[in-house]
Amino acid sequence: MQKRTLVGKNLSELKQLSQELGMPAFAGKQMCEWVYQKRVTDFSDMTNISKQNREKLSKECEVGVVAPMHQVVSSDGTEKYLFRLHDGHTIETVYIPDRERATLCVSSQVGCKMNCLFCMTGKQGFQRNLTPAEIMNQILAVPHSEQLTNIVFMGMGEPTDNLDSVLTVIDILTASWGMAWSPKRITLSTVGIRKGVKRFLDESKCHLAVSLHAPDGRRARYMPAEKAFPISDMIAMLREYDFSHQRRLSFEYIMLRGVNDSLEDAAKLSELLKGLDCRVNLIRYHAIPGISLQSSSDAVIEAFRDELNKRGVVATIRASRGEDVSAACGMLASQKGE
Ligand code: SF4
Repeated sequence: MQKRTLVGKNLSELKQLSQELGMPAFAGKQMCEWVYQKRVTDFSDMTNISKQNREKLSKECEVGVVAPMHQVVSSDGTEKYLFRLHDGHTIETVYIPDRERATLCVSSQVGCKMNCLFCMTGKQGFQRNLTPAEIMNQILAVPHSEQLTNIVFMGMGEPTDNLDSVLTVIDILTASWGMAWSPKRITLSTVGIRKGVKRFLDESKCHLAVSLHAPDGRRARYMPAEKAFPISDMIAMLREYDFSHQRRLSFEYIMLRGVNDSLEDAAKLSELLKGLDCRVNLIRYHAIPGISLQSSSDAVIEAFRDELNKRGVVATIRASRGEDVSAACGMLASQKGE
């Protein structure tokens, strides 16, 4: 008999589980505290639950924190983990320490439907959505879990394509019965699927990052999602939301040599984003096998940033991290996967 997993369940699900097992509903709240706040992984340590109920729990359930199967550490401190799932699929999670911040980049799907040209995960095709348990496990099972300051949904998969699971995890991370994090510590990155982004903005208070990568129709060459979900529609919708206070809006822009990195592109980009409270993150391209794209040079990236800043768009260059451990999304799973 397959045991039921506690990790990934919210308060009402754990209350319901308690009742199904003939335990009082308040045991659900106690389990939330043990799993998400005290980080206990063994039922015998849940000492405010009666011995009889703990025995019942260990017979029927598992906490469900499963360590990564493989780990690589970059010379810059970035750590990349590979998790093997119950069906043999593998997913990646990346830990990025940076001065006082410790960010975890989590995956939301096995593979991805979006097929962005510059992404190794896109090349693997789509296998399935991750469950809330599989997403939460990445957060709870990495070695530095208790030091994490930020979570970004920027790993394998398009998080708005698995929004039920992602919103459940955000609930666990931010609720007082869960980990009680501020939503300002969480960012969701998306290609910009209108319906999903709207629901995310309406149902959470977390930050949003939209992958842009080209200021015009050329975007479709690198991001096929542009054909079904034009960035112009996305930006029109984003103008209806307030990003001037707590919630931050950013645009990710991978700098590709001779493709999207001219000063004319910077001018077009500033026109596209005119009047939006946002920032642009310029990212060096991590080469992936079989794709001939190259990163722009540092000088070109700096000139692009300066041009955007001159035109009133806040732009920063994101430091390249973990290149020696194949930190580009999906690389490790391709090398080590089944
Ligand atoms: S970049 Fe993100 S959305 Fe695009 S294929 Fe890769 S995982 Fe999917």
